Amino acid sequence: MSKIIASAAIRGAHKILHRAEEKYEEALDKFGPKQEVGFPNTAYYLPIIYAITGIGVSKIEDMKRILDICKKLIPPPVREKTHLPYLAPALDAGMATFFAEEIIESIRYLEEHDVYAINSEDPTDKTIWLGAANDIIFRKRGVEFVDGTAPGFAAIAGAAPDAQTAARIALELQEKNLYVFMCAEHEGKRFSEQLVEAGVQIGWPTRLVSFGPDIYQAVFAIGFACRVAMAFGGIKPGDFRRNLIYNKDRTYAFVLALGDVTDEWYANAAGAINWGFPTIADTPIPQVLPTGICTYEHVVSNIPHDQIVSKAVEVRGLKVQVAKVPVPVSYGPAFEGERVRGEDIYLEMGGGRTIAVEWTTTRRMEEVEDGKVEVIGPDVMDVPAGTRLYFAMVAEVAGRNFQEDFEPILERQNHHLINQAQGVMHIGQRDIAWIRISKQAVEKGFKLEHIGRIIHAKYHQDFGAIFDKVQIKIYTEEDRVREVLEKAKASYEHRDTRIEGMTDEIIDTFYSCILCQSFAPNHVCIVSPERTGLCGAYNWLDCRAAYEISPEGPNQPVQKGACLDDRYGQFKGCNDYVNKASRQKVQSVSLYSLMVDPMTTCGCCECIAAILPMCNGIMTVDRDYTDMTPCGMKFTTLAGSVGGGAQTPGFLGHSKYNITQRKFLKGDGGLLRIAWIPKRLKEEIYDRLKKRSEELGIPNFPEMIADEAVAKTEEEVLAYITEKGHPCLTMESLI
Ligand code: SF4
Ligand code: ZN
Repeated sequence: MSKIIASAAIRGAHKILHRAEEKYEEALDKFGPKQEVGFPNTAYYLPIIYAITGIGVSKIEDMKRILDICKKLIPPPVREKTHLPYLAPALDAGMATFFAEEIIESIRYLEEHDVYAINSEDPTDKTIWLGAANDIIFRKRGVEFVDGTAPGFAAIAGAAPDAQTAARIALELQEKNLYVFMCAEHEGKRFSEQLVEAGVQIGWPTRLVSFGPDIYQAVFAIGFACRVAMAFGGIKPGDFRRNLIYNKDRTYAFVLALGDVTDEWYANAAGAINWGFPTIADTPIPQVLPTGICTYEHVVSNIPHDQIVSKAVEVRGLKVQVAKVPVPVSYGPAFEGERVRGEDIYLEMGGGRTIAVEWTTTRRMEEVEDGKVEVIGPDVMDVPAGTRLYFAMVAEVAGRNFQEDFEPILERQNHHLINQAQGVMHIGQRDIAWIRISKQAVEKGFKLEHIGRIIHAKYHQDFGAIFDKVQIKIYTEEDRVREVLEKAKASYEHRDTRIEGMTDEIIDTFYSCILCQSFAPNHVCIVSPERTGLCGAYNWLDCRAAYEISPEGPNQPVQKGACLDDRYGQFKGCNDYVNKASRQKVQSVSLYSLMVDPMTTCGCCECIAAILPMCNGIMTVDRDYTDMTPCGMKFTTLAGSVGGGAQTPGFLGHSKYNITQRKFLKGDGGLLRIAWIPKRLKEEIYDRLKKRSEELGIPNFPEMIADEAVAKTEEEVLAYITEKGHPCLTMESLI
């Protein structure tokens, strides 16, 4: 801890203790030792003292013991020569500060009857100061800290530069469902008074709680947290360790220090750190960066007022809660399987004629403004019905605990998240996404911005634990879309190759994926290191990470169990799982074959392979190739006939990356069976294809594979591969 802060906190603690001792002596003289003291109508005595020490102060004479404890807790003032560490003594000084302040405040209740409104949730005619919550208010409000209605509180000390700024900060905190506990003054101004001046309604019902005019009333906030732990967390009075940990883990509270930070403020801030509540200041005081008590930093300073709330939320690790998906159409799983066709289409993006690309990527915390959605380029209202637009959506995610490995998992959710909006259809992923928005949805006010709103809300709802902030940029002009496409492609490639070098043999656990069952109800992908999901967006590492993030989710570990057939890649564990997950529609599944028990295919597949019987070979075609293929069907026809989640021997959906994975179609002869692929796909995977061909001992194999430039029909393929001496011609018969 900064020496400046530690010494100031310790100085402040001494001053406050001194004041408490004076007040105690006076009260003892005036009222006698047996005089009852305490906060009104509570069974928790002076709650911080009670929670931490187990001592219930109910008479003036009880205070002596507490003051003695304070004296022991507060270290002597820090001298120039004292060395590190300062943290522990400063925290103790902070704790003693709270004890002393509770004593001061309980004596104030005895002496000054009109300072605080007693038993009232709102300011009264006489006073705006609410003082300590009685047990009725506490129970009613405290339970909200437990049931999630209120994640915690902001304790504000001091005042904003003006009433309008105060009102803005308060509103931002209210929007995050936080309580705002206010005390202390700065240059004669107080935050509570500023709110009143700005016409803001204060009191418990609006969660803007004006505890009192001085810094001492910080104890009403901390005392409230202590009572929550005792009343709702079942933590015994005196069990200080568990009380502190309970609050650190469950009460999202922090201190906003607005104005000059005095020694007394430092003492209170140090006290709050005991509960894991950090301080965020608007002045350039020294910072106290992570050292282990608060989740992240302890004191962060010099934060502008328009950023102070989001900074506090970040530092305290508060998770954003989005209750409802803010779109003008109905939203929910019921609409996931709905199609948008023909005449109903208002806007279409991707699906072959234009590009639609989705990319979820990591940014630094300060680069992301949570909830910001920008649409760059024409939107729904700028174009007539029946328009096709280019589309690139970049979701920029930041989080203290966010890992790059989580990117593909969030990104792959886009498909079912966007689909759940009524009148919006989403197919595919990565750079082969395909979105249609219906006329009915547009009539109700649906715009591209709402796609971003869905992503923001649902990422938070479903995956809030792994990230903190997300902002969305949607581009609809071709050149900007292509720029994003380039970056996204580099990122996809990087993700794909992470799996390189892992083999199915060394792994006992594969993963399932049933994310696509909303469209293809019996479809199950078994994802192994050497068989990436057919959408290309989920490899084994992604499935494993997805399972770790949500153990009940669509990716489950599958023990591969006994190997039933080495050539085709059939495993007892996989068969058992697929049988169950497909509702008995699929009994057994080969991981490495399109001929024998092939895996089912869903509409997301990047490529579809099909046999070419005359050639004794196999062709494969990717989604971008829209012309006729040598098997006599276009990609769309193939997808329509095999993409519904049934097993179709002779056809198989797979990812582009899978083509060069070593187990690709191993049971059917492997890569060397491939007799035709579209030219552009061949170019796209050329480097890996070449490498794999060398591994297989036929370095010029890529040149033996026919493409549309040399062969459009199966006969032409046969002629071409015969001329090239393609190895499939001499392999065992496919059928
Ligand atoms: Fe999962 Fe397979 Fe669908 Fe990809 S295609 S999301 S791996 S079920
Ligand atoms: Zn799918």
